[in-house]
Amino acid sequence: KANRVAEIEEVIKEKNVELLHLQFVDIEGILKHVTVTAEQLDSVVDGKIMFDGSSIQGFSPINKSDLYLQPDLRSFAVLPWSVEEGYSEARFICSVKNPDGTDFDGDPRNVLKRTVERAEEQGYAINVGPELEFFLFETDETGRPTQQTQDFAGYFEPSPHDNGEKVRLEIYRALKAMGFTIEASHHEVARGQHEINFKYSDALTTADNAITYKWVVKTVAKKFGLHATFMPKPIAGENGSGMHTNISLFDIKKGENAFYDTNDEKELSATAYQFIAGLLTNVKGFAAVTNPLVNSYKRLVPGYEAPCYIAWSASNRSALIRIPAMRGPATRVEIRCPDPTANPYLAFAIIASAGLDGVEKGLEAPDSFDEDIFSMSAEELFLQEIDNLPTSLEFAVAEFEKGEIGRKTFGDHVFSEYIDLKREELDSFRTTVHGWELENYQTKF
Ligand code: ADP
Ligand code: MG
Ligand code: MG
Ligand code: MG
Ligand code: MG
Repeated sequence: KANRVAEIEEVIKEKNVELLHLQFVDIEGILKHVTVTAEQLDSVVDGKIMFDGSSIQGFSPINKSDLYLQPDLRSFAVLPWSVEEGYSEARFICSVKNPDGTDFDGDPRNVLKRTVERAEEQGYAINVGPELEFFLFETDETGRPTQQTQDFAGYFEPSPHDNGEKVRLEIYRALKAMGFTIEASHHEVARGQHEINFKYSDALTTADNAITYKWVVKTVAKKFGLHATFMPKPIAGENGSGMHTNISLFDIKKGENAFYDTNDEKELSATAYQFIAGLLTNVKGFAAVTNPLVNSYKRLVPGYEAPCYIAWSASNRSALIRIPAMRGPATRVEIRCPDPTANPYLAFAIIASAGLDGVEKGLEAPDSFDEDIFSMSAEELFLQEIDNLPTSLEFAVAEFEKGEIGRKTFGDHVFSEYIDLKREELDSFRTTVHGWELENYQTKF
């Protein structure tokens, strides 16, 4: 620790870091930070910076509102866009502590830490690599997002169709400067839609990275006068934005990918099959977390490469769970339902927890499904016993509440706060009169 602090002090001096942003997320995964001066580094490192938890969504009640920020020293990064006139700013991602120094139960990062520890007790490290898609929209004179996408290009199309190349280049540079390894970047299927891939890492680092990625994307887009949104389905009739989550277990003792087994026909281990079974068994119960918004369920409809049926496949991109062809250290499961509005700490925790549940209980995976599910009739789906993902947030929240995986993974505090939050959101949606209703009912009736 002392070494890392010395390194950080060195960077602070070298880059003339003036301000430190102490970051964490609320229950929805929305980034928050409080800014202190670089002279306070010692107090920062010692976890002495306090904030008012009662003002943070899903955190603490008014009577126990004093909380402390404990920075993860690995997350220190100078903000590439802050370097101006010889000064710069840096950030730390923090875990939230109670005044007595124990972990605060309401912090989503602590929830993921607990899941990581549970995996370690079983002998595994969790590796995660997410793919976060986003749209770039034009803004109006006041800087508000319009519904005009910034280009009309399609999948993998280069400029001049793709107007986002320069934006993606600058996002890439910013992420790289903050320590990311970028693997690829491309225009996505829908107009104005993009994806930039960063290399997988352990679950906690990756959740920190996902939060940072969303922040950087939005910040850089704004510099170009654009609005970046991770909303799952911003345009009806076009592909939505997903956060495919690639996940694997690493056997700590053996020092190898625990999903890889050359003796199996598909070169997957028994652990991999059990993990898949755990995901399939629990997915209805965790969809409210991986797909947290009313809008999320407008993406999970047939015809747009997003899953809606509960099945797995070694090849098929219409399946909920795909096993990408790569083997060896890259052997992994890709779960395709999550969208980028999910809180990455809670989403990775509950996905990993569901998979680990399958491993713990030795669950058996059903046969893989290699036909195109979208072209199957309702009758065929019924005969093959293929079930649906929840079709609305309302159904998903009901499944979350009645299932075991939510409470088990989140603990009572986050579990009940999450349900309260989603119920409020549903009530607000349910009692609002929407444009569609006026359009379809006002003149006709
Ligand atoms: P796709 O073919 O679905 O578009 P991408 O190439 O966009 O996939 O993303 C694949 C993601 O999987 C990357 O983030 C990559 O680092 C990650 N990944 C690779 N190997 C592993 C692994 N063993 N465990 C978890 N994630 C991995
Ligand atoms: Mg205050
Ligand atoms: Mg991809
Ligand atoms: Mg994609
Ligand atoms: Mg993918």
